[in-house]
Amino acid sequence: MAATTHPPTPRTTSGSLPKTMRALIKSTAGPGLTLVTDRPLPSGSTGKPGEPGPNDVLVRVHKAGVCGTDRHIYEWDDWAAGRIPVGIVTGHEFVGVVVRVGSAVEQVKPGDRVSAESHIAPGHDYNSLIGDAHVARNMQILGVDRDGIFADYAMIPQSHIWPVNQDIPDKWAAIFDPFGNAVHTVMSAGVSVKSVLITGAGIIGLMAVAVAKAAGAQQLFVAEPDPRRRELALKLGAKKAYNPLPKDKGGQGDDWVKEIKSTVQGEGVDVLLEMSGNASAIVQGFRAMRQGGTAALLGIPSKSFNFDITEHIIFKGADVLGINGRQMWQTWFQMERLILAGAVNLDDIITHELPFEDYNRAFELMQSGEGIKIVLDLNGPTR
Ligand code: NAD
Ligand code: ZN
Repeated sequence: MAATTHPPTPRTTSGSLPKTMRALIKSTAGPGLTLVTDRPLPSGSTGKPGEPGPNDVLVRVHKAGVCGTDRHIYEWDDWAAGRIPVGIVTGHEFVGVVVRVGSAVEQVKPGDRVSAESHIAPGHDYNSLIGDAHVARNMQILGVDRDGIFADYAMIPQSHIWPVNQDIPDKWAAIFDPFGNAVHTVMSAGVSVKSVLITGAGIIGLMAVAVAKAAGAQQLFVAEPDPRRRELALKLGAKKAYNPLPKDKGGQGDDWVKEIKSTVQGEGVDVLLEMSGNASAIVQGFRAMRQGGTAALLGIPSKSFNFDITEHIIFKGADVLGINGRQMWQTWFQMERLILAGAVNLDDIITHELPFEDYNRAFELMQSGEGIKIVLDLNGPTR
């Protein structure tokens, strides 16, 4: 927890709580999720439902973003089967209101509007101590390794709570997690007065278009197979949006890579932001990048693939950055600043808001491609 906008507050607990709550859980080792209504409230280090340990914050969840990760868990692919403990409460992107705090919690109080960093770092490990908590080993992700936030209540360590500025709308605060991925990638690569290619204009790629534009990218190109997402990328500030699929699948094959090279000093873009995880997009992206360029890789390929390091990295003299999560807490401050300055608008990317009970429809909308970012409403507005 690092925001400066909220002064330290008295230690306090308040109100009576229900014994059980609604929660969207992974009830069996197979596809689907189950909405239960009799889940005991989460317990912190006390082990008692609804009772925070000294450093815990009990939050009532109001709105929650549905992520590609949740879709993997819903569909139960190989990654999910190998990682997700059956019985877990899913979900990790949210905005909510603090209802109870532990005795050592000083920076938030009941009634405060909060989100949280979903990657829970151990805190005392080497990487956390040297300021690299976002890549700590033994990281536990909410809704992946431990109970998450698709539930009426969630218990979060105060070290990972983020107080939400009063001028930020609920539904934007609910998707700080992917927005932070976009901000962390753009800011790590450095785009000011540079030519930039974004491969994959999905949820995070579209956010990155807006962020790169706000951060001063001069020539912004996008490669994305889906026409609706290409159109949105243009609306958000891309100069050109190409269909990178092979020609026999209606795309432009490699022609767009040649076009980019000829448009940008005959060399290619300064910066590649890879946000698709697609193997051919990664190779095309490196081809479209100039000698000595910077590639920030966020997209996660579903399996290993052939990639010519000699051509694309060594002889190219490329700087390659692996991007994981968000930097604690620099990325969060950057997100807040971008939003408060009016430099980005996330409304275009949030295509649907659905009641919590309609979670199956949310996943169907993601699977069909009709939904881009979907926000579930659990407990109405926070205020
Ligand atoms: P998304 O599914 O919304 O976006 C992916 C986009 O890539 C889609 O729009 C898809 O049409 C596009 N795409 C598919 N094939 C392509 C091709 N050949 N060329 C260009 N684009 C192509 O997913 P998202 O939530 O925006 O996440 C983007 C990627 O980032 C995913 O791989 C996800 O797993 C990964 N991710 C990484 C981190 C991290 O910390 N590194 C965090 C979150 C997500
Ligand atoms: Zn997410």
